[in-house]
Amino acid sequence: MKVLVINCGSSSLKYQMLDMKTETLLAKGLVERIGTDGSVLKHEKTNLDDKLVREIPIEDHKVAIASVVDALIDPVYGVVKSMKEIKAVGHRVVHAGEKYAKSVLIDDKVIGVLEGCVDLAPLHNPPNLFGIAACRELMPGTPMVAVFDTAFHQTMPPESYIYALPYEYYEKYGIRRYGFHGTSHKYVSERAADMLGVNIDDLKLITCHLGNGASVSAIKRGKCIDTSMGFTPLAGLAMGTRSGSIDPAIISFISDKEGIDADEVLEILNKKSGMLGISGTSSDFRDIDAAIQQGDERAALALKVFAHRVRYYIGAYIAEMNGVDAIVFTAGVGENDTNTRDVICNELGNLGIKLDLVKNKVRGKEAIISRDDSRVAILLIPTNEELVIARDTYELTK
Ligand code: ADP
Repeated sequence: MKVLVINCGSSSLKYQMLDMKTETLLAKGLVERIGTDGSVLKHEKTNLDDKLVREIPIEDHKVAIASVVDALIDPVYGVVKSMKEIKAVGHRVVHAGEKYAKSVLIDDKVIGVLEGCVDLAPLHNPPNLFGIAACRELMPGTPMVAVFDTAFHQTMPPESYIYALPYEYYEKYGIRRYGFHGTSHKYVSERAADMLGVNIDDLKLITCHLGNGASVSAIKRGKCIDTSMGFTPLAGLAMGTRSGSIDPAIISFISDKEGIDADEVLEILNKKSGMLGISGTSSDFRDIDAAIQQGDERAALALKVFAHRVRYYIGAYIAEMNGVDAIVFTAGVGENDTNTRDVICNELGNLGIKLDLVKNKVRGKEAIISRDDSRVAILLIPTNEELVIARDTYELTK
């Protein structure tokens, strides 16, 4: 059974086509600059070196999906003979509020609920909904599933998700911690249990999803009990361009000093802060690492701030779970950046966390990178959110 996975952003769309009988990736691709000049589709068929690149006008998400379908049925680069072979479509959806703790089959009622969540994720849910609408129009009758970034975190207890604000704001507006990257935290926690050969019900895990956006989760017996992102993905760790958690009073202070309004301050906290803000160089850890090699002190400070915050959450979650059996690193930085993993794990020996500096010299593949005498296992696990989406889609539609 062939399943198409769609991750639709405001101006870009990523997709993968998988055969779920064998869980193999057949093709993947990206549509960029939807609705602007220079829009392009880049499509890769597994085991074919030659890539398909189509620079064509793509004015909206419907045209984007149509171009994806065209590529998928292309005689040379395609992987199906006709659209009918696509048996189901799985959509990544960022925010389901408190409505869904699991993936769901999409119908009009689900669409209505997700429209009701637009307030909570004004940047993310609308493009996700455009993608769903376009697919439903182009592939009527093909079952669609929504897989939510927030769902895995719905098991958090109230003491983790309630902010110390007037309670009525939670009741009236749904202001609470939701958490994001749930699909990734779920995937790597399950893989960690497999790699360790231990039932997930017997494990306390801390999963560090460190990409351009970054979050840490505490996972006890396979259930998320706390996570660092909050009401929005701005909270928690310092990230590529996001500040992470700061004293909220800073917002009005900057607003007064700089003569800008709260939305403009939030734009700065989202787009000009984090590694970029501190280093003044780049949001990309490859550039930060290179600048540190050149003796750049601000880049070095940025990395120290990043690692400090990750360690802060590791400590907090060990306290919350009364221990930890394994720490998992995943996503762009977590999977590839040897130096950052080293700085994070440095001098945690008293907590039973000992990184093996030789085993740590690995990138982008599953590995146990802790020393043999480390009480806590340290794992590197490449995330695979698309596979989780495809699996859930398959389960709900087969
Ligand atoms: P997102 O999905 O949030 O955009 P990713 O998980 O793809 O992010 O991570 C992208 C980030 O990973 C890059 O911005 C960069 O900082 C980091 N990264 C990618 N490759 C490497 C590498 N080889 N060394 C260090 N950092 C890397």
